[in-house]
Amino acid sequence: MTSDLIVISEGYACATTFHVTDYTSYNLKSDNKNRELERFDKAVEKAGQDLESQDGPYFTIQKLILSDPLLKNGVSTLIKENGLTAEAALYQTIKKYKEDLLSSNSKYLQERIYDLEDMSQRLINILVDNKYAFPNEPFILVCDELLPSILLEHVKYIQGIIAKKAGYLSHGAILARTLEIPFVTTNIAIPNHQKIILDTRTKHLVLNPTPEQIAEIALLKEQLPNLEVTEHPGMNLLANVFGNEEIEKVKNYGFDGIGLYRTEFVFIHNNRPLTYQEQLNIYTSAVKTLGPKTFCFRSFDVGDDKQIPYLKTHKKGFLNYVNNKEMFEDQIKAFIGANLYGKMKIMFPMIETKEEFNYLKSWVIRLKNELNNEMPLKIGMMLETKAALEHIYDFTEADFFSIGTNDLSMQLYNLDREKAKKIPAKLIQDLQNKLKEVVNFCNKTGKDLSMCGELAAIPAATKQFLAIGLKNFSVSPSAFKDLNETIKNYLKNKNN
Ligand code: PEP
Ligand code: MG
Repeated sequence: MTSDLIVISEGYACATTFHVTDYTSYNLKSDNKNRELERFDKAVEKAGQDLESQDGPYFTIQKLILSDPLLKNGVSTLIKENGLTAEAALYQTIKKYKEDLLSSNSKYLQERIYDLEDMSQRLINILVDNKYAFPNEPFILVCDELLPSILLEHVKYIQGIIAKKAGYLSHGAILARTLEIPFVTTNIAIPNHQKIILDTRTKHLVLNPTPEQIAEIALLKEQLPNLEVTEHPGMNLLANVFGNEEIEKVKNYGFDGIGLYRTEFVFIHNNRPLTYQEQLNIYTSAVKTLGPKTFCFRSFDVGDDKQIPYLKTHKKGFLNYVNNKEMFEDQIKAFIGANLYGKMKIMFPMIETKEEFNYLKSWVIRLKNELNNEMPLKIGMMLETKAALEHIYDFTEADFFSIGTNDLSMQLYNLDREKAKKIPAKLIQDLQNKLKEVVNFCNKTGKDLSMCGELAAIPAATKQFLAIGLKNFSVSPSAFKDLNETIKNYLKNKNN
């Protein structure tokens, strides 16, 4: 079956399909009201149990929302009167509350929107997990839109993803590329519980594959990728990762190190903050696995499109650390502890001003001193806000910069994550011009500079950045081959 497949992440897979329908769909109906009422009650009970052991004002508010009879009544009424599923009824009830809060003049009440959203997400996660008995064997996920939490939760068995829509730069998409899971979007109807082959090389979906076709895919999957690694003196090909699972791959592919470890994904599918000790174990194991290569951890980058149910987060940025002081300190202490085993850098995302950066840097140094840790540690920042780019010369205290083109293209050109893949050539040109100053500043001051947004993996853009002297690129493991080729060709043409 050939169709209009849009490839989000390359690869091939052969497994049985498993449908997860759009559970938040505004009007999704159910034919069994009692079952939906029971599902909602059970989800509330489970969320209550999860919150029981949690202390602090944030959790107190969450507990209050959960026990508010208005929430239960709102949801029950919509299930009984409109026949909605528990998820759709919850979605509509929360939406109504949010509108009421937004129309109030009180900043305090408006801020409660985030608590409501967090609670709603917590309940939805429980409802979805209970509704779908996810297979305990390899499957191809078929969904309307990919939720990163579903992918992370079931990564062991997900062989491929077919969605109705997905932005190339959505976190689900970046995650799939990092994990090298083939991912396509299409509008054609895919049957449930049916063996299929998904092959992005041919843009084919094969229903009812023959034993020969199945054997061919199995053979392909056994072969190690044919990577011809080239040495590019003075340059570094680095990897973007989400978790420890990808680190072996980073080594096998011949990357020079890890340029971005998105640590928020370590937290995203837990229902409580990870302790210092738990994080120390994760980061130490990561650093030990990678060995002597450079390792750059980014402090948790949450807010906006990346919400963690138990965290008080609004927008992405600096305030998340100030508002979640304990979690920030536990994470930084765990980084510092893991730094005994490797060559580590840490960086902060979404920095806007030098005051923000200097504040966080001195916070880290204070913690390092308290721990009597004398290991060298480079402390840098993502360059991904318009404000920071415009004042690059202010950031004299940063040891290094990593350019985050995903957020930067959003802030500079209003390109959301969906559109950024097709960034017009004239905007790449404009970005190239703007980044020239950054390259000069780093050359003059001896600061390391790399690029870790998805544009680093788009050959036409990479060439432009190579031309202004950028030498370090951090990309998803699946983009290694293309990046290696692009650099090789660029150097060959330059030397001819
Ligand atoms: C970026 O913004 O380019 C980036 C790498 O960060 P993230 O995609 O995690 O926001
Ligand atoms: Mg970013």
